[in-house]
Amino acid sequence: MGRPYLQYVGDRSARYCCRSCNCDVASSSALLWEGIMGSRQPAVLLRETVNVERCGEERRERLSTGRYTLVDISCRGCYKKLGWHYLCAATPDQKYKEGCSLIEVASLHIMPARPQEPEAPAVQHRVAVQC
Ligand SMILES: [Zn+2]
Repeated sequence: MGRPYLQYVGDRSARYCCRSCNCDVASSSALLWEGIMGSRQPAVLLRETVNVERCGEERRERLSTGRYTLVDISCRGCYKKLGWHYLCAATPDQKYKEGCSLIEVASLHIMPARPQEPEAPAVQHRVAVQC
């Protein structure tokens, strides 16, 4: 057994971490969309994630924006369910979601961007925020 192998977000942007176990989940530069998903839960759509594993079976579901093939995803560090991964979108204008992950904001917390050198006050902090 032993500790699961955990990865870290490579860039210095602010990053999303698992609220339960604090491992990295995604860089804020991977954010595609932020809003409210079906059950009135605030959520983020992320292009790339780390430390996220598929759990359960693939399923087809009809959401407000169309039909999708989805699979649930959980945190590799603590196995908590985070949201789902879009495997396939039936509607052409929703194809951009394929390969992306939708994660409930309630399962995440945001760590601020890492400065180049924390001790040097002259360093400019660059926060990559994409809307
Ligand atoms: Zn976790």
